[in-house]
Amino acid sequence: MKLLDNSPVSSAQDLERHSWRMLVDGEWVPSVKEATLDVYDPGTGEVLCEVPAGDEADADKAVMAARTAFAEQRWTGIVPETRGRILWEIAAKVEEHAEALATLESLNQGMPYKQALHGAIPAVARCFRYYAGWVEKFGGRSSELSTGSHRFHTYTLRDPVGVAAMVIPWNAPLTMAAWKLAPALAAGCTCVLKPAEETPLTALWLGEIAEAVGVPPGVVNIVTGLGHTAGAALAAHDQVDKVAFTGSTEVGRSIVQAAAGNLKKVSLELGGKSPVVIFDDADLEKAIPGAAGAIFSNAGQVCTAGSRLFVHHSLYDGVVRGVADLAQDINLGYGMDPQSDMGPLISVRQRERVMGYITDGRSEGAEVLTGGETSGPGYFVEPTVLVNAHNSMRAVREEIFGPVVAAIPFTDLDEVAAAANDTMYGLAASVWTQDIGRAHGMARRLRAGRIGVNVHGLPDVTMPTGGYKQSGWGRELGPEGLDAYLETKSVFTLLR
Ligand code: NAP
Ligand code: MG
Repeated sequence: MKLLDNSPVSSAQDLERHSWRMLVDGEWVPSVKEATLDVYDPGTGEVLCEVPAGDEADADKAVMAARTAFAEQRWTGIVPETRGRILWEIAAKVEEHAEALATLESLNQGMPYKQALHGAIPAVARCFRYYAGWVEKFGGRSSELSTGSHRFHTYTLRDPVGVAAMVIPWNAPLTMAAWKLAPALAAGCTCVLKPAEETPLTALWLGEIAEAVGVPPGVVNIVTGLGHTAGAALAAHDQVDKVAFTGSTEVGRSIVQAAAGNLKKVSLELGGKSPVVIFDDADLEKAIPGAAGAIFSNAGQVCTAGSRLFVHHSLYDGVVRGVADLAQDINLGYGMDPQSDMGPLISVRQRERVMGYITDGRSEGAEVLTGGETSGPGYFVEPTVLVNAHNSMRAVREEIFGPVVAAIPFTDLDEVAAAANDTMYGLAASVWTQDIGRAHGMARRLRAGRIGVNVHGLPDVTMPTGGYKQSGWGRELGPEGLDAYLETKSVFTLLR
């Protein structure tokens, strides 16, 4: 590979000279069967390049490499200060290559280049820096213990959970890789990461960065390939101690089943159907753009997207019109075009899925206030506002994962709290009001892992994120994100 040594990536043509391999035990290798997988540019529908199509055999090799690296203490044998410094240097390299990484993310995922450059890439660097700081700080505790005439010296040790397998989706490829690798490495784990089949490129480059700054062989392994082969093999492997998954609730369920064999630890970041609740005293100059941003950023391909818009009936018409006007102002276009505000969806399949929900919404009585059309040659779907929606529609109950918001009126707090919680998901929500009692009252009542008050999308590495109900198990980011990769050991010493 050696992307780092080559001239920067600035267009799809530049990718042709790279020969993509996956990273197993410090070597850049093809798949065992030498099979490959086409990687597409969702903005054109054309093939960008090929990556190895790893399967069970490749997953096994990577897991065994991580197991050996863990047993030999190749990573934990390095003093914590140096490990922290290495994570810090990953952040520095991400920043050094920000433009090329943003280009690659935009070409492969479709997101506008400017959003990748100014949003995703800096957040990835920040994630590694944040967890670099934790390497020396997550010590255990001691407690005073005596039983009868015996006194003890007791303390807890925080141990890495061991070999961590990570399976991630395509909506924010480098960010998802960072959210898993940074805390796992800070905890002292060795890792096998499987990026989504659609978006393996920046994850592979991150592997190259890790290698370049001194992460030892076998500590970070990256297997490209399909979920039902490579991903399923990681989830089932008896030498994997923990599996961290982000993706659909349906696959999350199969991960849990696969993990049962050796009872590996599981953390899950799954789907969402997050409510945005606008009360009658909301500052509409903020609430309307807030609601539009909640659903349309990253073309709605965000697990915490505000896809259900509850508006007090007295403001309903004005708010939905305002959100629709903002939707019409969005420049839908190719990610590398500086004028683009919103890129394509990831695949034909995803475009069909999203359009299916719009069609169903219409047939169940919703009206398309704006949007609802596709354009090509890439997989573009217009930002769409559905009105006359109600809680029993498929488009309101199921995660669409596209730029489609369904707007529903309400009259009082009890009614909207119940409606907002009437979902199998519980990832995020936002409340728009100037009444602090109402804001914090709603924050308590909403059954979701992240609540915004007069703001919607604000994932930040310092604050945990994760799901109630079928939106997941455990939390990522913040100190809680580190806990997901640690075991706690109690040590008792009888004093003389
Ligand atoms: P997905 O099918 O859940 O895939 C997520 C990851 O799991 C991918 O790496 C996938 O590999 C892998 N995978 C698939 N089947 C697997 C299995 N049996 N065992 C282990 N790993 C497996 O999600 P998707 O296809 O990317 O998108 C489908 C829907 O998931 C979306 O429409 C959306 O509703 C939801 N989603 C949620 C989030 C979130 O952040 N909560 C993110 C993305 C998608 P492949 O890439 O090879 O399939
Ligand atoms: Mg998939």
